[in-house]
Amino acid sequence: MHSTETRLKSLALSLGADLVGVTTRELLADGPPSADPRYLLPSANSVISFALSLDRKIIQDFISKKKWRPHCDNRKTIAQMLYTIGDTLAEQLRSEGYEAVNVDLNNNYRPEKDAADVTEMIEFHPDFSHRYAALASGVGRLGWSGNLLTKEYGAQVELGSVLTSATLTPDPPIPDEEHPCDRCKMCCLVCPVEMIQPKASVQVTVAGITETISRKRPNTCCWIGCTGYEGLAPSGTWSNWSPYRLGRPLPEDKQELDSLCISLQKADPQMQAADNSFNNYRQAVFDPDWFYYTVCGFCRSVCSSSRKERLANRKLIVNSGTTALMLDGSHNVVAKKIVEVETPFGLNVVIPREELSEGQSKTQKWPGQFPLDREVIEYLCQHINSAAAKGNAVD
Ligand code: SF4
Ligand code: SF4
Repeated sequence: MHSTETRLKSLALSLGADLVGVTTRELLADGPPSADPRYLLPSANSVISFALSLDRKIIQDFISKKKWRPHCDNRKTIAQMLYTIGDTLAEQLRSEGYEAVNVDLNNNYRPEKDAADVTEMIEFHPDFSHRYAALASGVGRLGWSGNLLTKEYGAQVELGSVLTSATLTPDPPIPDEEHPCDRCKMCCLVCPVEMIQPKASVQVTVAGITETISRKRPNTCCWIGCTGYEGLAPSGTWSNWSPYRLGRPLPEDKQELDSLCISLQKADPQMQAADNSFNNYRQAVFDPDWFYYTVCGFCRSVCSSSRKERLANRKLIVNSGTTALMLDGSHNVVAKKIVEVETPFGLNVVIPREELSEGQSKTQKWPGQFPLDREVIEYLCQHINSAAAKGNAVD
């Protein structure tokens, strides 16, 4: 007769998990507040952490800006699998008389004192941290980027966690001598908003393991880059998949940065949309029409398990140019004749001049178009002649 944890781990692996481990509430007790499973399940004694790897070849096409959509679709498929694995584990535990919670994969943050809703958030502390659970249960370690790195797939994974009242035997964390981060610092070089500092560090302790990781800029900085409000690197020579530009450097001061992020979020049509993934992430992930709009995550995508590949990935990112918005909703790398046009959403958009001169909307190429793209395209089509006249040529 196999132990409960062995049976649960086999079940997760049989459903497609690449990595799985177990940790306990006691072991997580020395971690930051978001390592406490009792926030979501007061009776929690144990946590099952599991990881699925993203498709490596698709990531290379994404970071070299050859193909945008396949990585977005891959993330959506992986998220659906993670929810299914977590639901099955939780159901199995409940059928054995335990309490269990399948932790939401993303977009669930602890309330902040001064924030009425997500648009006013500045810290973004999750209900429960999948990363800390994965660190404690031996699935991976925290890299310099702060991302969870596995020995097998680097940071190119997505994580899930199930909390349970069952008392399970924990797995040991990965020892220091097998730490998958070699401090190559490629993650610092591929962040368009310079979130990850190359030298300054902080320490975080979870399950008796102390990680020394980058002292990052405030979380609103990544929010601005990862949502796509600013896609252009300070060098001006490369971007992530976002065609949006703030037209000015990001503030250094935390308060100014936080205020900027709040004002951008308030203006973002995504936040008013009914299918907003911040209202219900699970529902969005299983909606066949929802497009998993991913424009960044370069700090994770660059970080494969091989150092040689990480160095090559950085080159793919910084040598693949900048992205523009097309009137059919796609994002493309366009070499010349680009204009940057002001929008009513507090940011500028980059668009090929010839798209503007055609002066008409096109058949939508992407299902579930991102609300900001959709409204910017509508705006451009309505104001096409004046936009073309006012746009600053950046070619
Ligand atoms: S890119 Fe290099 S330094 Fe950054 S987390 Fe990955 S291995 Fe560590
Ligand atoms: S997701 Fe993008 S913006 Fe955020 S830290 Fe990583 S590279 Fe930077």
